[in-house]
Amino acid sequence: AKQDGRGTFRFFEPEMDTRAQAHRALEMDVRQALARNEFELYYQPLVSIDSRRVNGFEALLRWRHPSRGLVPPDAFIPLAEEIGLIGPIGAWVLRTACMEAAGWAAPGGGAPPRVAVNLSPLQFAGHGLVETVQAALAASGLPGERLELEITESVLLQDNATTLETLHRLRRLGARICMDDFGTGYSSLSYLRSFPFDKIKIDKSFIQCLADSEENAAIVRAIAGLGVSLGIATTAEGVETLAQLEHVIAKGCTEVQGHFFSPPRPARDVPVLLAAALQR
Ligand code: C2E
Ligand code: CA
Ligand code: CA
Ligand code: CA
Repeated sequence: AKQDGRGTFRFFEPEMDTRAQAHRALEMDVRQALARNEFELYYQPLVSIDSRRVNGFEALLRWRHPSRGLVPPDAFIPLAEEIGLIGPIGAWVLRTACMEAAGWAAPGGGAPPRVAVNLSPLQFAGHGLVETVQAALAASGLPGERLELEITESVLLQDNATTLETLHRLRRLGARICMDDFGTGYSSLSYLRSFPFDKIKIDKSFIQCLADSEENAAIVRAIAGLGVSLGIATTAEGVETLAQLEHVIAKGCTEVQGHFFSPPRPARDVPVLLAAALQR
C-alpha cells in the first residue's frame, strides 16, 4: 500500500505490480543486450518502380533475446530511449549496417545497393552524431553516397539551428536524408521547406487504406506530385498487395517497400533478394 498524499491509502492492483516488475526485468535485459551481442539487423528491399531493381535495403533492428525470442523494435526502442541507451544502440546500428552493406554488390554489375538507417530524434539531441556516422563510414569503407538516414519530423520539431546544421553536415558526408512516416505528424509541409530532403517515405497507414477512401488516394497522389515538383524520390511503405502496388505506381511514387516484395529478412538473405529482383 502507498499513501497517495490525500490522507487515504490506495492499493496497487497486483496486476500493475506484475507489469512494473516485467518492465524492470526488460530494462535490466536491454542494458545487457549490447554487451551480450543480442542485436541483429534485418533488411527489407527498397524497390525502384522504374527499373524494378533493388535500390537499397532498410535496416530494421531486432533483439534476439535468449528466452523472449525475436523482439521487435517497438517493444524496446522507446524503453532504450527512456533509459538513455539509444546513443550506444544507434551507434551499433550505424556501424553494423555500414559494415554489412559494404559487402553488397549488384548482381550483373550496376550501382551497389544503398542501406537506409533509422535515426532516433534523441540521437540528434545528444552530441557526436556526425562523428558517429563518419566513424561508421570510415571503419566499413562504405562510401557516404550509399547511406540513407531516415528521420521523422519530430527531429525538426526541436527546430533549432543545431539540428539543421547537423543535417547539413550529414549531407556533406555524402549521405541522403530521408523523411520517414510522412503524413502522420503535423505541419509536414513546412518541414520540407526548412530542409532539402532527398526522399519522402509515405507512411504505410495511407498505403494500406488506399482502396478504402478517395481521401487517402488523393493524399498519396498529392505527396507523390510534391516529390515530382521538388525533384525528390517518394517511397510508398507497407505495400502488401498487387492492387496497392498498381495504385502507388498510378499515383506517381518512385519507390516501393513492403511485404509484396519481401518482409525484412536476415542479412544473409540479401544476396538472394538481390538475385530474385533481377529475375522479376
Ligand atoms: P519504420 O521506420 O516505419 O519501419 C517500417 C516498418 O514497417 C517496419 O517495422 C517494417 O517491418 C514494417 N513493414 C514493412 N513492410 C510492411 C508491410 O508490407 N506491411 C506491414 N504491416 N508492415 C510492414 P519494424 O521492423 O517492426 O520497425 C518498427 C519501427 O521501429 C520502425 O518503423 C522504426 O521507427 C523503428 N526502428 C526499427 N529499427 C530501428 C533502428 O535501428 N533505430 C531506430 N531508432 N528505430 C528503429
Ligand atoms: Ca524507417
Ligand atoms: Ca516509416
Ligand atoms: Ca513507422
